[in-house]
Amino acid sequence: LPHALLFEGRAGIGKFLAAKWFAMGCLCAQGPGVPCGLCGPCRRVGSGGERSNHPDLFVIDPILEGEERIRVRRIAERDHEPGESPEPSLEAFLSLRPVEGRYRLVLVRESQRMILHAQNALLKTLEEPRPGTVIVLETHRPAGLLATIKSRCIRIRFQPLAHAACEEVLRTSGLDAQEAGALARLGEGSPGRALDLARSSAPAILARLAEVALGRSAPSAAAAELWELDGEFSGKSESAMERERCRVVLDLAQALVRDAWRASAGVTSAELAHGDTAIALAGRVHAAELHRRGLALAEARADVDHNLAAGALIERGLAVLAFGPA
Ligand SMILES: [Zn+2]
Repeated sequence: LPHALLFEGRAGIGKFLAAKWFAMGCLCAQGPGVPCGLCGPCRRVGSGGERSNHPDLFVIDPILEGEERIRVRRIAERDHEPGESPEPSLEAFLSLRPVEGRYRLVLVRESQRMILHAQNALLKTLEEPRPGTVIVLETHRPAGLLATIKSRCIRIRFQPLAHAACEEVLRTSGLDAQEAGALARLGEGSPGRALDLARSSAPAILARLAEVALGRSAPSAAAAELWELDGEFSGKSESAMERERCRVVLDLAQALVRDAWRASAGVTSAELAHGDTAIALAGRVHAAELHRRGLALAEARADVDHNLAAGALIERGLAVLAFGPA
């Protein structure tokens, strides 16, 4: 095995699950190989949540830990501030020999969240790997990692799931067949993205967007409704959640216009996430105009990250999306 692997590909397609499965396979009592899933080591890897219960596996999972950034003390040994609880570091973990198996494994989820100091600290470990050490970095944004880290990893690229597979994952997650079908299309091969969309009530948002695009509803009225819709929008503060709602709305508006543009280029309804609305728009609006509106929406979307007021941006996006009555 190489000492460092980089699992990369779109968000929500199962890269981190694959990393856990891989760790299980390395530590399995029958292995290394395809994990049996039943032996003690397999069970311990699978249980225990963020930290895992296996002594030869170290997991850094900023999502479960609720951390925006992976700080340097998770990677290298640092003196702790008074009152700070000492957290185990990757470096300390790797300084010990394997307890049970022949490997010491580290999984870092969303590794692009490592701050620069943390990445530099990790680089040292990657330069002098101990035998039996395997580090798996997971990311959907490799651009957020230092080039020197990437060049020391074997890069494994994950593809989005086929529509049917995505639908099946969604059904296993408890969605009914119709919801699963619609959301699988919206998720474009990423069940994680589809489930996020379900939580943020994307189908209801889309219904409002379609009404605005087709001239059946005024942008200002629809904007008010969009603020009222229930949905889970991640964020630590009220304003962060508002920005997240705004991102979801503008992403969906962009996807809608993009589909209309593709429809005008001859892509059929079955291949489009927003089939009916997209076809209707393509029949009334010139492709060049769709392109122009798409760019305007992308600009509004970029402004969300520049901290412009989310309320004003949703209205601006809806005004761009309003193509007027047929
Ligand atoms: Zn096993």
